[in-house]
Amino acid sequence: MASNLVWFRSDLRAYDNPAFQAAMNSGSCVAVYCLAVNQWEMHGVSEHKRSLIVRQLFSLAEDLAELNVPLKVINCGTFSGVQSELAELCCQIGITKVFCNHEYELNERRLTQDVETSLQSVRVDLHTFHDQCAIEPGKILNQSGEMYQVYTSFKQRYYGYFDRLARPLANRPERQGETGIESDTTVLMDYSLDLEMSELWPAGEDEAHERLESFIEARVKAYKDVRDFPDVNGTSTLSPYLAIGALSTRQCMHAMISLNGGVLHSDQPGIQTWTNELIWREFYRHFLFAHSDLCMHKPFKKNTDDLPWSHDNERFNAWCEGRTGYPIVDAGMRQLNQTGWMHNRLRMVCAMFLTKHLMVDWRLGEQYFMARLVDGDFASNNGGWQWSASTGVDAAPYFRIFNPTRQSERFDKDGEFIRRYVGELSSLDARSIHDPSPQQREALGYLSPIVEHRGAVERTKALFSALGKQGSENAHANDNTQCGVASV
Ligand SMILES: Cc1cc2nc3c(=O)[nH]c(=O)nc-3n(C[C@H](O)[C@H](O)[C@H](O)COP(=O)(O)OP(=O)(O)OC[C@H]3O[C@@H](n4cnc5c(N)ncnc54)[C@H](O)[C@@H]3O)c2cc1C
Repeated sequence: MASNLVWFRSDLRAYDNPAFQAAMNSGSCVAVYCLAVNQWEMHGVSEHKRSLIVRQLFSLAEDLAELNVPLKVINCGTFSGVQSELAELCCQIGITKVFCNHEYELNERRLTQDVETSLQSVRVDLHTFHDQCAIEPGKILNQSGEMYQVYTSFKQRYYGYFDRLARPLANRPERQGETGIESDTTVLMDYSLDLEMSELWPAGEDEAHERLESFIEARVKAYKDVRDFPDVNGTSTLSPYLAIGALSTRQCMHAMISLNGGVLHSDQPGIQTWTNELIWREFYRHFLFAHSDLCMHKPFKKNTDDLPWSHDNERFNAWCEGRTGYPIVDAGMRQLNQTGWMHNRLRMVCAMFLTKHLMVDWRLGEQYFMARLVDGDFASNNGGWQWSASTGVDAAPYFRIFNPTRQSERFDKDGEFIRRYVGELSSLDARSIHDPSPQQREALGYLSPIVEHRGAVERTKALFSALGKQGSENAHANDNTQCGVASV
């Protein structure tokens, strides 16, 4: 018999999982995952991410079986179904304690509270842990006891406090005795798994660790120099695994510490830059924890809601489909549509193009990314979109608007990335591919630019400027390390 239940959420791994470790330390343990497909619909979770979660659950079931822990995947529909199904399962198998890790989005936080209440009604205790950040949200605050609004200041504190505040890696749980309870993952059989995605993004903790190791061995030291070039395999591609919790940021940080002689702060530019990116991830999560209204489609800079954001379907659809007539934007969007992932440099270019050139509401872009990304993650996605739209915390100053053609010339110099995704242009040379002439466009069946760059950005700057002082306030405190200084 088992008395403990570990409830897996966005922490789909057996190792370095605080809730799972505590459940195993406390007695015999069963695991559960609550499938809430209707909630996925409401949150606009992409098919790619759903497929990765389902495949990761099969892999997790195998890892848990080695530890004699049965995994039950139950169909709950929505979050309200989760409360009742969990309580019922506890009663069925005689559970007295449930263990889970916190999630920081608003609905997820409410769910934790609701589950606690419904478990109390059947005399079951809920034990919660912080897992998603290496340092718990709410622990790194400024002198006024508030969350930092400038990434650089947060980062400095983060490095300073890491040794004291970061939880050590959780141990590998020991194999337990037989529970006499069967695993049940049959509800996952309803999912037809996309083979192409399985090859692009194989599931499993082993896969995540292999990616981490190969990145550390072969690429992290050059990261600072190559991370901005979409045609180079210069980044870790770990985001999908971090998003579903097949890997933790703590594990990544500890890998950096081992590489770096036992400390997090490094003088090696590649290691330092990569660690700083992980700290961006932490920053957005800490920020979300402190500002949960971000989950209600609110900009951080409230007055930016007064801008005349457009909802023009024609323009928005052209952007979604990679038909803007700006080759680098179209290549980025087609990469997203085809692979479920987009290079960070292009996420910034495409997001800025939608919001600053087309002036389309950033929330539509945010939603579209979520609906396509395999690594869709509320905090990072919202952070990235509000950064690009200049509506968010420590965002890009509104007057620094990427020129897509200059970005293309700089970061895809030979046009190789464009050639891969915008097949129409593959015959063009490295000079003209970034901005083909009208004759070339016509001959190759490629579109004219949807807007003219200079006119579009001047209009947008004027609109932001008219918002008054507040629009530019954060620009002065801004730290541009997320993307390097934006070139205009
Ligand atoms: C508009 C926009 C939307 C984005 N949406 C998401 C999203 O839904 N999910 C997501 O994980 N990331 C998102 N990002 C951040 C970033 O683009 C991806 O994390 C990164 O491209 C993932 O590739 P990688 O794993 O190879 O990253 P690496 O360069 O290897 O970086 C390592 C890890 O650091 C974190 N990281 C890196 N850059 C950032 C960043 N700018 N902000 C927050 N964390 C970062 C990620 O967890 C990443 O896996 C978004 C950025 C923008 C500009």
